[in-house]
Amino acid sequence: MTRPRILVTNDDGIFSEGIERLAAALSEVGEVVTVAPDQERSAAGHSLTLQHPLRARLVGPERWSVDGTPTDCVNWGVLHLLKNDRPKLLFSGINLGLNLGDDVTYSGTVSAAFEGTILGVPSVAVSQEIETGFSFDAAANFARRIARRLLQAPLPAGTLVNVNVPAGPIHGVRVARLGKRRYGEAVIEKQDPRGRPYYWIGSTIPEGDLEDGTDIAAVAEKWISMSPLHLDLTDYRSMEALETVAKTLGV
Ligand code: MN
Repeated sequence: MTRPRILVTNDDGIFSEGIERLAAALSEVGEVVTVAPDQERSAAGHSLTLQHPLRARLVGPERWSVDGTPTDCVNWGVLHLLKNDRPKLLFSGINLGLNLGDDVTYSGTVSAAFEGTILGVPSVAVSQEIETGFSFDAAANFARRIARRLLQAPLPAGTLVNVNVPAGPIHGVRVARLGKRRYGEAVIEKQDPRGRPYYWIGSTIPEGDLEDGTDIAAVAEKWISMSPLHLDLTDYRSMEALETVAKTLGV
């Protein structure tokens, strides 16, 4: 029996430790092909490169780097490299840093999994909390387990799984909804050596709402969080309110 093909990508770049650990763990489950950005593209979101061509380079056995975004990598991997034998699963990560709550809209790690989902490949994003002395062990082990499980019993089409793994000892796994993370709202202005201003989008350590049932609370309490996500961003609660607005617009 042939082993299932698993596409692995990330947004930290092809040479990050997290992606190597993820590929190694998943190689016990299937034939891993890695396609990842040639440099770090964290917070690239779901961007796709359309203004210039992409180059792909083989950097190791079944390991490719692409000079584009995580979404580019998934497109090239699924629609070109593996077009005749599409992957059965896509994993993105292990990201160096959590992707909780609102982070998922910026995250290249999660966006790669969104892209996999759009292309019909069951997809999982895995992110690791960074603390002094942290390890990728728990995240890599968990990725292997969930890969085995999803191959046996897939989730409904169009659902991706966002996994966040706390640093240090872990109690277990919780299924959680997305919480709200608040970053310090700041743009920091500095001056370059020629006296011209430059800016950093200031992101301080985020404060999370620790409401029960959120991914933020789960990770804060040292549980692995698993959140099912889908791409339908419609706010169904507001359909009626917007209907009311629409009627007043008189068009
Ligand atoms: Mn990253």
